[in-house]
Amino acid sequence: MTKTKAYSAASATSPLVSTTIPRRDPTEGDVQIEILFCGICHSDLHYVRDEWHDVMPAVYPCVPGHEIVGRVTTVGSAVSKFKAGDLVGVGCMVDSDHTCPNCRAGLEQFCPNMVLTYGSPDRHKTAPVTYGGYSDSIVVDESFVLRIPANLGLAGTAPLHCAGITTYSPMRHWGVTTGKKVGVVGLGGLGHMGVKFAHAFGAHTVVFTTSPNKKEDALRLGADEVVVSRNADEMQKHAGSLDFILDCVAAEHDINAYINLLARDGNITLVGAPEKPLSVSAFSLIFGRRSLSGSPIGGIAETQEMLDFCGAHNITADVEVIPIQKINEAYERMAKSDVKYRFSIDMASLKSE
Ligand SMILES: [Zn+2]
Ligand SMILES: [Zn+2]
Repeated sequence: MTKTKAYSAASATSPLVSTTIPRRDPTEGDVQIEILFCGICHSDLHYVRDEWHDVMPAVYPCVPGHEIVGRVTTVGSAVSKFKAGDLVGVGCMVDSDHTCPNCRAGLEQFCPNMVLTYGSPDRHKTAPVTYGGYSDSIVVDESFVLRIPANLGLAGTAPLHCAGITTYSPMRHWGVTTGKKVGVVGLGGLGHMGVKFAHAFGAHTVVFTTSPNKKEDALRLGADEVVVSRNADEMQKHAGSLDFILDCVAAEHDINAYINLLARDGNITLVGAPEKPLSVSAFSLIFGRRSLSGSPIGGIAETQEMLDFCGAHNITADVEVIPIQKINEAYERMAKSDVKYRFSIDMASLKSE
């Protein structure tokens, strides 16, 4: 076991502070990674503040971070895919049972025994729970380590491991491609990736936002049209016309207004998670055989596919790079959606602690 520098929170009301945490020595199938950048996901904030207590109670001290990019320092004797010096990534999962029907289908995100990058019971007993990427290094089973295309900027590549795959996977599942008309609701960390992917897939991309001042940015990110959702006339123009809508809004909102924009057999997928149940009109779904679904991240094979797609199309997240010492301030700003469009922590800043 080795000790590594990290930032952790001691309770739901404590700030994140500098600390040291244990990491296991690499077993034969493990890859040890020096972390270079870690994105800040909204889930990190929810977890640290124990806001998802009913679904996933936080265990303290907690070390969040599941948008990890780094360089391999050591590999175990049985590791075949990676060697020291490789640029790699780690997302929301670090292990699974490898044997259930979901794992066999390459859909580890649905494995009942999946191990989250932070906050899951630690099978190796190095600590009570797994610790995430707000740290100097991490040790991960090679089957959950991803390869990063050499042409991508590392700070903007980190968020691809959660925000990227969360938006890429449902678009692939629902067949977003050239000739389709696709809506993206909400232009934040998830939404801005959704726009980039929809555009890169060749779809006619419509962004729905509550803020008229996001119009220019949406067009820059790849939108063909921007609709201010409070404007009923603008909304009505798109009624019954969209093949797919990615709903990235985590706050309460009227989903029926968007279901009515779907064409026959259109689908709206939720990737944002509002706290309270949504009220859905059955008629809106029935007339038009429309469907409503949700989607979490993606499997490891698909996450690699997404990274390779980003390499081929030069796609990264738009990030504001911060030193780890500004993490608490970044959380306050993220809670107010005051970031374009993701924070990425430069982990070199942790070395000076
Ligand atoms: Zn996340
Ligand atoms: Zn499984």
